[in-house]
Amino acid sequence: MPKLTCLCGENINLSPIPNPQGFKLVWEPLREKLIEEIINAYSKAQSESEFEDFLYKLLYPSQREFPQVYECPNCYRLAVFASAADTKPRFWYQQELAREKTDSICSILEISPDEDKTQPAQSLVTSEPQNTPLLR
Ligand SMILES: [Zn+2]
Repeated sequence: MPKLTCLCGENINLSPIPNPQGFKLVWEPLREKLIEEIINAYSKAQSESEFEDFLYKLLYPSQREFPQVYECPNCYRLAVFASAADTKPRFWYQQELAREKTDSICSILEISPDEDKTQPAQSLVTSEPQNTPLLR
C-alpha cells in the first residue's frame, strides 16, 4: 500500500515511516489503560532495553492495531483505516467549517512543510530532557 489516491485526486505517499500525513487514533478509555500498562512495565523492567521492548509491543501491537488515519495534504480529507495493514480506507471524512483554508491536523500540530515532519513541533515539548537515567 505505497500510495493512496484521495477522492480529490491527490496521491498520498504511504511509504515513509513514520508518515508525516499519518496518525493513530487512540480511544480515550484505551489511553488510560495504556498509561497503566506503561507504569506497570516501568516498575517491573529490569533494564532500559526491556522497558523499550515493552513500549514497542504496546504501541505497535501485532493484533488489535490502532485505527490509522491519513490526512490528504491537498484537501485535508481524512482516510480512516481500521488498521494500518488494510489496503483500502474503511471510510473518508471531508473537512468542514475550517477557520482558514489551510487548517489541517498538521497545522494544528504546527508542522510546516519546511520542518522535519518526523520530529514533534517544538511547542509540544513540555520539558527539557532530564539528566536522571530512565531506569535504576
Ligand atoms: Zn484530497
